[in-house]
Amino acid sequence: MWFKDFLNMYKAGISHEFLFYFNVRDLVDNNRYMDRYIQEEFIKQRGFSIIAFYDISRGLTFYDSVMEKEFHKITLNEAVNLTHSLPSKVFPYIDAALKNAKMAVFIDHVEKIIPAVDIGSMSLEERTALIWLCEWSVNTRISAVGSTIFMLSDNLADVSREVLKSSYKIEPILVELPGENERRDYIEHLIRDKNIKTDITIEEFAKLSSGLSKKAIKDIKLRAEAEDVPISFDYIKEKKYSVLKKEYGDVLEFIYPEIGFEDIGGMERAKNYLMKNIVNPIRNGDLRRVPMGILLCGPSGTGKTLLVNALAKSSGFNCVKIDMSRILGQYVGESEKNFKKCLLGALSQQPVIVFVDEIDTAFRRGDGGDSGVSRNIFSEFLQFTGNTNNRGRVIFIAATNRPDLLDPALKRAGRFDKKIPVLLPDIKERAGIFKVMIKKYGFETDITDFTGFAARTDNYTGAEIETVVRKAYEIANEDEREGNVLTGDVLGEAIQKCRPSTQQVEFMTELAVKECDDMDLLPEKYRDQKLFNA
Ligand code: ADP
Repeated sequence: MWFKDFLNMYKAGISHEFLFYFNVRDLVDNNRYMDRYIQEEFIKQRGFSIIAFYDISRGLTFYDSVMEKEFHKITLNEAVNLTHSLPSKVFPYIDAALKNAKMAVFIDHVEKIIPAVDIGSMSLEERTALIWLCEWSVNTRISAVGSTIFMLSDNLADVSREVLKSSYKIEPILVELPGENERRDYIEHLIRDKNIKTDITIEEFAKLSSGLSKKAIKDIKLRAEAEDVPISFDYIKEKKYSVLKKEYGDVLEFIYPEIGFEDIGGMERAKNYLMKNIVNPIRNGDLRRVPMGILLCGPSGTGKTLLVNALAKSSGFNCVKIDMSRILGQYVGESEKNFKKCLLGALSQQPVIVFVDEIDTAFRRGDGGDSGVSRNIFSEFLQFTGNTNNRGRVIFIAATNRPDLLDPALKRAGRFDKKIPVLLPDIKERAGIFKVMIKKYGFETDITDFTGFAARTDNYTGAEIETVVRKAYEIANEDEREGNVLTGDVLGEAIQKCRPSTQQVEFMTELAVKECDDMDLLPEKYRDQKLFNA
């Protein structure tokens, strides 16, 4: 928690200048919250005599008028008319105050003052501010007086990298999004003794608002009030979607799973594994047994995404998808900036399944950097996925059809160390997929046994069977031959017309089989092959 992190380092004399990042809006825009710390911790307990706030548009303001007077006394009233000015004008006076009184100054939107650009392309104003901010961190007079400087920014990557160099002593501190309990307390406070209309309980509201800051929760409440509508499940979901979309863009997709294991045809081994090792331990509270990460290997269209959805539904976890190709597609500098924020956003949804699709497109073995992401992004990713503190609350699931290309560091113990092959369905599984697919689309049919059709669709993936079923429905509708009913003839004709693309499927199947190190997860026919190969 940010305050504890700050206090430990401040008390131990490790640092007196801090860079708070991520959910800083809750800190500064939530008066009730910040006030308590300022009153109790800074003024009463630690005797700070000046608390001030600076940002480039509002200038320098003070916690109260006594403090303002004190500041002007120290600066001999020379700064009186300068409090709305640029850093180069005001910082010298802040400097004097920091060294002559116990002062805490909060510098908000610091990325607007010292942006993450090359020093060479910084304006003189920005360079001046950078020097002040860096020098303060190593100034012994400031530490002797006990003054402290807090810089705040939503995204760490937007702030000049210079401040984190080891020659300075500026400590970055992550301000997390509120957890479920904290949200519940806040929501309780928000809607207490008001005539707010709600269709859901405080508990439900708290659970649904995962990933949202207090500020965003308050916005939802205020909007509902203004629009005079009750706060309902759908209302929160809709508002949450737009907040998160704005915050994380296209890179993070929030999935509200609607399908369960029962809607997936076949895949009994994978389903079993996930039930036994994830869903059941979670239900029993035995979180140490839950794997940190899972790698789903197999050709496209075999239902890997589907499996993740069903797992989210039956475990009750939130689910977010990180699209690595989108991260790659972005302007390189931008992607680096946003990746950490995006991971923090994903983790803030705890308990959460973080699904990384097409992981091989980004993290390739021995990649020189041309087709993959930079080493920075990769090491960021390794750090997040290897954090054992999150065991049982964050499960990373990656999907790939080219496991052979993955950087081996990803597959080491404690990351994506469980590899589940997701292969082409066998005849029995295909019959199952036909059945769930026809049910999924709500088609009428007089077919009761799909075995014959399954026999005629050797080498079809689940996605290709879906194409067949859709085609069949089209045919049935076109001629009105059968009056919209999916008959055996129509389905047979559709199979004729939709051939599977065997291209590469065999190769990808082989790779997935090779990757798998747990015989129980392999279909019978591959076990022998594997033993044979070994
Ligand atoms: P992958 O992630 O492996 O590329 P998807 O999970 O996206 O494959 O599957 C694509 C579509 O194919 C799914 O949306 C689903 O409709 C269908 N599908 C694939 N496999 C199955 C299956 N075993 N059961 C039911 N539907 C399936």
